[in-house]
Parts: sequence; structure tokens; C-alpha cells
Amino acid sequence: MKIGFIGVGLMGGPMAHNLLKAGYELKVFDLVPALLKPLIQDGAIAVDNARLAIEGVDCLITMLPASEHVLSLYLDEEALLEHIDPKTLVIDCSTIAPDVTKIVAGAAAKQGITMLDAPVSGGTKGAKDGTLTFIVGGSAAGFEAAQPVLSAMGKNILHAGDHGAGQMAKICNNMLLAIHMAGTAEAIQLGVNNGLDPKVLSDIMVQSSGRNWSLELYNPYPGVMEAVPASKAYQGGFKVNLMVKDLGLSQQAALLSCSSTPLGALARNLFNLHAAQGSEKLDFSSIQQFYKPK
Ligand code: NAD
Repeated sequence: MKIGFIGVGLMGGPMAHNLLKAGYELKVFDLVPALLKPLIQDGAIAVDNARLAIEGVDCLITMLPASEHVLSLYLDEEALLEHIDPKTLVIDCSTIAPDVTKIVAGAAAKQGITMLDAPVSGGTKGAKDGTLTFIVGGSAAGFEAAQPVLSAMGKNILHAGDHGAGQMAKICNNMLLAIHMAGTAEAIQLGVNNGLDPKVLSDIMVQSSGRNWSLELYNPYPGVMEAVPASKAYQGGFKVNLMVKDLGLSQQAALLSCSSTPLGALARNLFNLHAAQGSEKLDFSSIQQFYKPK
């Protein structure tokens, strides 16, 4: 089976590596050519534009930053949908607005193309280890067809519902992630400011009712945990500007559905302020710095 992969950044890169490891033939494209080099070394064919990445493939995967990139690639600037063979299964793993997903998937359906939204959870570590959770929106038949490919990159493949449902579930998840990451940073800083060791405090809270994913697997305080962005000057991982984007999507969805999300709104403002202070390219756990006494 041949796969085209467009967007091999922090997430797409390791996901593409896992497809190569699983024996898939891969054509890769990214606007940043340097990102293609390690994949070429592993046997991928690098191409010069998106149009070439869809030629002769059975499946196309995209992993792009935001809604505007997905719209531009599939419908507007590149108009890829006009050139994709209807037999190609199209899977967009980017986290974008559910409404945009529905527009693109609807346009694909008009061309006879099966498209799925399959945003992921698990971070760059999950992408590297092949343990991502895929949250899929689209037809049951499309979901079935995508199983082998998604299983090569992830551990949990979940069907949320029709087009856009994958995105909606992912947006709810990331709103909760932002809230517990900010809460975790706040609690650790409170302890440190009152003489506690951040590692001792984290070990206590992880065995207590404050336990959560940020505390257990992605501690935001530098030096508490090895191999997480906090211990690498907040490099790599999930950028603050992408979290701000996802929190914006949660607030759009809240407005449209008349939902009250006071903590989500607060988290969006907190991460937005953090980004505006020059942290937009750091990992989102750098919200810890926001609480640090200056
Ligand atoms: P990234 O910025 O590292 O990678 C995105 C890549 O897309 C870049 O390399 C960019 O050059 C490329 N790109 C953009 N437009 C393109 C185009 N038209 N053609 C070809 N390439 C194009 O971002 P990332 O961290 O890999 O995140 C990708 C998506 O996954 C985002 O929607 C993000 O919200 C989501 N996500 C990220 C994480 C994480 O931990 N980083 C976790 C879960 C979900």
C-alpha cells in the first residue's frame, strides 16, 4: 500500500517514520524541505509539491497546523481535492474547526472521495512511540478502511461519529488538557513558593486526588521529570500557539452551542497572554513560567 504524507513537522515526522517501519511505501512533502531528510534516509520518497504526493497513492494523510492550512491545501490555493483519485482514502490528522472539516469532507464526498477527520492525542512522545490515540470522524466504512494505517501509528483508534465529530471530541479534550496543565503549574508553584521540593510535591500529588495526565506524564516544572519539554527548556512538544488555536476552537464551539465554559475561556486568555509575552513557540507546559516569581 502506498501512502502520501503531507506535513511532517513535530507530529507528522515521527508518524511518517512509524508508517515506514510498518512497511508502507511513503511519499512525503512539507513546505520545510529540511524536515524531509530523515525520512528519505529511512526510505521515503520526498516530492517537491503536494500534487506529486497524491499521485499513485492508496491513502493520503495530512498533518497540518490549523484550519487555514487544510482549507488552502484541499480546496483553495492547491485545490488538491480536484486531483485526488476517488479510490484514495484521505485522512486529515490536523486539529481544526469541526465546521471546516465538514466543508472539506463534503467537497471530497462530491468527488466520490472518502475522507476522515482523525486528530490525535498523545503528544510528540506518542507520535514517536506509535501509541497515539486517533479520534476519528466519518463513515463507518471509512473508519474500517483506515484501521490498518492508523494502527501503525497509534494504540487507540476511536470512532467519535460522523464528519467533524473527531475534531469536536479532540477540542473538548484539549480544553481539559489546558485547564489541568495550568492548574498543575499553579499548584506546583504554590508549593515551591512555600518551600516544597517540586519533585516531592509532584510525587505526593500523583498519589493523591490531584493526579492528572500533566502531572503524571508531562510535568511542567523543569527537572522533575526526564525527557519532557520542561526539562529541555520547553523545546519540542506542543507549541503554545497551537494550544491557543485549540482553545479558540473550543470557545467558538461554546458560542455556537450556547455552552458555558468559564474555565476554558480563562485558559484561552492565560495561554494567549503567555504567547503574547514571547512564548508562542515554546511547549505549552511552559505556562509554568507564567507563575514563576519574577
Ligand atoms: P508543526 O508546526 O510542527 O508541523 C506542521 C507542519 O505542516 C510544518 O512542518 C509545516 O511546514 C507543514 N505545512 C503547513 N502547511 C503545509 C502545506 N500547505 N504543505 C505542506 N506542509 C505544510 O505542528 P505539529 O506540532 O506537528 O502539529 C500538527 C497538528 O497536530 C496541529 O493541528 C496540532 O494542533 C496537532 N497536534 C499536535 C500535538 C503536539 O504535541 N505537537 C499533539 C496533538 C495534536
